[in-house]
Amino acid sequence: MVGILRKVIAGFCYVEAGGVLYECKPRGNIKRAVGNILAGDNVEFCVMSNGTGAVEKVLERKNSLVRPPIANVDRLYIISAHSTPAPNALIIDRIIAIAESKGIEPIVVFNKSDMGNLSEWKEIYDKAGITSFIVSAKEPESLADLKKDLFSGSGISVFTGNSGVGKSSILNAILPELNLSTGEVSEKLGRGRHTTRRVELFKLPEGGYIADTPGFSSMDFEHCETVLKDELPLCFREFEDYLSECRFTSCTHTGENGCAVKAAVDNGLIGESRYKSYVSLYNEVKDIKEWNLKGKK
Ligand code: GDP
Ligand code: ZN
Repeated sequence: MVGILRKVIAGFCYVEAGGVLYECKPRGNIKRAVGNILAGDNVEFCVMSNGTGAVEKVLERKNSLVRPPIANVDRLYIISAHSTPAPNALIIDRIIAIAESKGIEPIVVFNKSDMGNLSEWKEIYDKAGITSFIVSAKEPESLADLKKDLFSGSGISVFTGNSGVGKSSILNAILPELNLSTGEVSEKLGRGRHTTRRVELFKLPEGGYIADTPGFSSMDFEHCETVLKDELPLCFREFEDYLSECRFTSCTHTGENGCAVKAAVDNGLIGESRYKSYVSLYNEVKDIKEWNLKGKK
């Protein structure tokens, strides 16, 4: 049978197929590579007469993330908050670029709108052609559009964002049955920084899955993935129409004469904030070559 791996705990794999969850042991060759089986993996498994199963093969992945460890991600919701902590454009744009490089649809969410205005933030992403939402986990009606978006897809969705931005609060408000513990109680319950980190996929009511990734913050996310300089311009979707118009084919879009991307920024066609992030990210990776990353990935 073929199923989807919902979680890996203490050497057991929980595989869902046909609406049933099977507790499986990984077979020898996979067992040695148990760290290499990820939540989200599609696996071949067989069920024995006692009802337990054995995972025999991990099928090819379309993508995977390192932290949180998860495979076959379709959508990444990047959560920021009005304050404690406030949004940071460079962090948001770095995560968007990573998502784009892996073929994951990025969606930006600005939470805690009850604490102040977030419309300028949303405008940045509207202009870039990236879906965004302004919400307050404390005001259920503000979550309607986000909920619709989350429920509309059939694939795997992941929430990322700094600790404290309200990831658990939003998910709890949208899906009370998940019953995730929020920052208010997490220290007491040990779901905070010192808990074992794990990933579990929960079924969404209209199809698809949402990953619960306690213990993983957007900082882990950013530090484990790199978009190299040649690929970076392609990870800013609003640059696309201009990339072939630059005077030099080797243009890095960081200040060369005749750069069509920079001209579009000057003409107000590309947002300043996104361009600034691009230049910062370019400078971060400009000296990294592909072979530097060998062994890191
Ligand atoms: P997480 O670490 O991203 O999962 O964040 P939590 O969901 O644990 O929330 C962190 C803190 O922010 C908690 O004290 C929440 O009550 C608070 N919080 C979450 N969402 C909102 C919101 O929309 N408005 C306000 N004012 N506080 C919020
Ligand atoms: Zn250019």
